[in-house]
Amino acid sequence: MNDLPPIPFGRPMLGQEEREAVLSVLDGPQLVHGPVAAQFETEFAARAQTKSAITVSSCTAGLYLGLLTHGVGPGDEVIVPAMTHVATAHSVELLGAKPVFADVSPESGNIDPAAIKAAVTDRTRAIIVVHYLGLPCDMDAIRPIAREAGAPLIEDAALALDASYDGVKVGGLADLASFSFYPVKHMTSAEGGMVTSNDEGIANLVRRQKAFGYDRSLGERTKPGIYDVTLLGNNLRMSEIHAAIGLAQVRKLDAMQAARAENFARIAAGLADVEELTIFPRRLGKAESSHYCLNINLPRDGSLQRDDVVGELKPAGIGTSVHYPSAVSLFSYYRDKYGYQPGDFPVAEWIGAQAISLPVGPHLAAGDPERIVSAVKNAVSHAKSLA
Ligand SMILES: *Cc1c(COP(=O)(O)O)cnc(C)c1O
Repeated sequence: MNDLPPIPFGRPMLGQEEREAVLSVLDGPQLVHGPVAAQFETEFAARAQTKSAITVSSCTAGLYLGLLTHGVGPGDEVIVPAMTHVATAHSVELLGAKPVFADVSPESGNIDPAAIKAAVTDRTRAIIVVHYLGLPCDMDAIRPIAREAGAPLIEDAALALDASYDGVKVGGLADLASFSFYPVKHMTSAEGGMVTSNDEGIANLVRRQKAFGYDRSLGERTKPGIYDVTLLGNNLRMSEIHAAIGLAQVRKLDAMQAARAENFARIAAGLADVEELTIFPRRLGKAESSHYCLNINLPRDGSLQRDDVVGELKPAGIGTSVHYPSAVSLFSYYRDKYGYQPGDFPVAEWIGAQAISLPVGPHLAAGDPERIVSAVKNAVSHAKSLA
């Protein structure tokens, strides 16, 4: 139908810098807890404008550690949005605690503060907010609810690197945040994550509990083997090889983020007059998005079917993704364990059924945003004729 190359949903932007950085780690003596991870942490903390940044093996690991360091365990409840990556809820389950879902707002896909409030019980031990597709949550409304519940607030910042709220960057909006460097996030370390916090006590606990609960790091030991173990810990560190990729990436981030913002703006403007689509804003109140991707949300009444639209986009060479394919409550694990039913979280279920994520990443070539816009318009009008 056309001979233009396909546009994938996402692609890691790796070059000579990453290659050289990895080789130089391989040529050296240290593969774990070395200087490259330390440098990555320093530069990431400067970017996120937080006191601390701690490398971890994934965003999921960071969320788990965030809950562990706040003492979350069996019998506790943690409030999470019903529309998110399953990792958000799994980090709670892995500690033997119970994720309590709250529905999200139909204006943004972000957790609805009123739903958080309604979900608070005397067992609530933490609240995780997810900045959905990079748009920060309504922190002014959420913070007082957390304070009143006596619950620490944790940011799942997997898709929100460089986003801000009221001029403060994501990563420093709550007690702790966790970022993801999975290959198609804003930047990558192949696999990996970063925890940020402005609370030195919490940051030190994360450092210890990501490394077996040792009371001192390798660099703090005056002779081999001189450490005690005073805490339960896991092994959730990032290797020097992964850190080398991440450090090279963070140094290129300005250009990559500018491309995302530009591509997002072009596609959003091009699709603004397509009535059938709900497109969440990139600015809302005090929130400024990091433009992870652009979701086109098809009508709630099902008058257009996602499979029909995606079925048209694929032959046009437009790669898409779905964030996320189901309300977490309706994945079999959660449904079977807790008895959730369709209709419990209607907005999350709408997004789960009807959202299509379009690419906006720095891998797009000149002209791709316009190509995406016209393919989406064609796909929508064709899908309408099928309905
Ligand atoms: C990708 C993602 C995660 C998981 O990140 P990993 O680094 O793969 O563990 C968690 N939360 C959200 C919102 C995500 O999009």
